[in-house]
Amino acid sequence: MKHRPRTRETKQRRVVYETIKNTYSHPTADWVFDQVRHTLPKVSLGTVYRNLGVLKEEGLVQEIYGNDRRAHYDADVSPHAHLICDSCDQITDVRNVKNIDWRTLKDLVGCEVADQKVIFTGRCAGCLQQEPKKA
Ligand SMILES: [Zn+2]
Ligand SMILES: [Zn+2]
Repeated sequence: MKHRPRTRETKQRRVVYETIKNTYSHPTADWVFDQVRHTLPKVSLGTVYRNLGVLKEEGLVQEIYGNDRRAHYDADVSPHAHLICDSCDQITDVRNVKNIDWRTLKDLVGCEVADQKVIFTGRCAGCLQQEPKKA
């Protein structure tokens, strides 16, 4: 018997990936699920979670944990930092942040660093703009 390619699964994964790729909002699985349902009405939340896991393993998406303590997904896996806003909980990309020199950490604490995730907290540009000007 010929092995059938898992086309349905491939399509689901592609739609999940495209959905994350087409937004800058660093969405949660729930949001992705809501969007994917427009294209694939029969998809389940479990399927979306499973696909997110595979995409993460394949290095196509990364997870950032927000103020809500939930995983938010980002299809931009190029090195960049994030700002998590204390007022609106929005996650914003921060570019051109200089990486620290990891090599010194091995001497300092004896560990070997594989990756660096930079998360800033504070207030995003949108919230700063809404803030009433101080007289
Ligand atoms: Zn904000
Ligand atoms: Zn990002």
